Amino acid sequence: VMTLTNVSVGYSGSVVVENASFQLSEGQIGCLLGPSGCGKSTLLRAIAGFEILMSGDIKMDGKVISTPSYGMNPEHRKIGMVFQDIALFPHLTIAQNIAFGLSAWPKESAEERVAYLLELVGLSGFQMRYPHSLSGGQQQRIALARAIAPKPKLLLMDEPFSGLDAKLREELVPDIRKILQHEKMSALLVTHDQMEAFSMADQVFVMDAGVIHQTGSPYQIYHEPETRFVASFIGHGD
Ligand code: ATP
Ligand code: MG
Repeated sequence: VMTLTNVSVGYSGSVVVENASFQLSEGQIGCLLGPSGCGKSTLLRAIAGFEILMSGDIKMDGKVISTPSYGMNPEHRKIGMVFQDIALFPHLTIAQNIAFGLSAWPKESAEERVAYLLELVGLSGFQMRYPHSLSGGQQQRIALARAIAPKPKLLLMDEPFSGLDAKLREELVPDIRKILQHEKMSALLVTHDQMEAFSMADQVFVMDAGVIHQTGSPYQIYHEPETRFVASFIGHGD
């Protein structure tokens, strides 16, 4: 679904992500794995359409959506995003939160979609509640439902589990995999936690200081690290 070719992104002239190239296939879950500050969120924002490229291009389904001189409007990219901080709208009900991206839908279809998604994330009956009355894990499920409501082709998730304890994470990971499969969506997840990457991803992209060091299956990354950085980051030392 998505191809990045030699993508560089930066702020006021300084390069933060340098020559990133990788592909994500239909239905795959990819994971951008790397230490804090290496440029993961910056690259995710560029894919979503919130940063201008310094070089390279991004394609979705073979169509160019970003170059240094062109950026398709984020709303037209068929990309959903779950941000690093959950950020549900506190003054809107759960149903209104999920329906936020469905303003162009007929009212009945939107209501149906909301009910369907609430069931999918295991929170039927929560329509009229407000975000503050939900636990962190429940809010995370609603944020996911909101992001996938308009049926994006690709879901971007920036550290979606960072605020949750280990037990909640373990519950959410298989659920999210199931939901994505069910909705036939591809996803790109950002994390600095290798266990999270290995448990979620079909493809892992290991990043350090703005550079993608290695692309491969969790098995390959773990057993066949190609650079010293990858080896030490996943804990093999040297
Ligand atoms: P973390 O795991 O801590 O979220 P990250 O890998 O997501 O880190 P980024 O947020 O992409 O890293 O930041 C990469 C670099 O770009 C950092 O040095 C950061 O200070 C810088 N940076 C990020 N956003 C901006 C901005 N809006 N303006 C200037 N510099 C920025
Ligand atoms: Mg980040």
